[in-house]
Amino acid sequence: MLNICAIASGSNGNCYYIGNSQEAILVDSGISARQTIARMLLKNLDPSLIKAIFITHEHSDHTCGARVMSKKLKVPVYLTSQTYMAMHPHSRPMSPRFFNPGIQINIGSLHIFPFLKRHDAAEPCSFRIEYKGLQTGVFTDLGSACENVIQHFSQCHVVFLETNYDEKMLWNGHYPWHLKKRIASEYGHLSNDQAFELLARNSGSQLQTVLLSHLSAENNTPDTALKRFSELVNKLNIIVTSRSQAGDVIQMNSENLPYV
Ligand SMILES: [Zn+2]
Ligand SMILES: [Zn+2]
Repeated sequence: MLNICAIASGSNGNCYYIGNSQEAILVDSGISARQTIARMLLKNLDPSLIKAIFITHEHSDHTCGARVMSKKLKVPVYLTSQTYMAMHPHSRPMSPRFFNPGIQINIGSLHIFPFLKRHDAAEPCSFRIEYKGLQTGVFTDLGSACENVIQHFSQCHVVFLETNYDEKMLWNGHYPWHLKKRIASEYGHLSNDQAFELLARNSGSQLQTVLLSHLSAENNTPDTALKRFSELVNKLNIIVTSRSQAGDVIQMNSENLPYV
């Protein structure tokens, strides 16, 4: 059984839990360690199962809790050397393990595949995690879907998929022009429409669950994001993640997969 949970998701902090009964990883640690642990306990997730923290890129909504979390749990932080160098020195983890995008990392029976993506960071990566044939992907902080993203996305049974903004809300909102341009650029974030298009074009027939993730507070609402995907609700389990609390734990059983 694989347990999957968005501990935090949004432009104010990101942390995604993926684990079995023996071991777990966090993808990103972008809220305080205290909050991360409190949210996990509320969902009956055992922090002592966490064996490693993986960092996608240096932005503080993905990294601000990593140093303290790794110290508290005595676990390494996996990141690229360029991400490490781009982090604020006070946030850098004390026990970094550098990985190379494209090279698989094993944490017990969890197999982690890091790959490069388009985002305005030093060396932005995303991860696909494989456990007994079950594929889970974290696809947030994407300006646009490159070949790597498409290739990993198409293999997944469960995806955290960025729906950062509604295009009308962004362009009609109060953000300064340069920030609107940055968010909407090829190296910014995915809109609800772009996420829908990525899913419609590239999901495999095995895809079961889509967690709409990394929503902006200013330029999106959970209802707006969900509405964009409403035509798929009979086919897929579509869930919107919360900016302020952990979501429900999704349990996936690899033995009941329609396709492996
Ligand atoms: Zn982010
Ligand atoms: Zn970012």
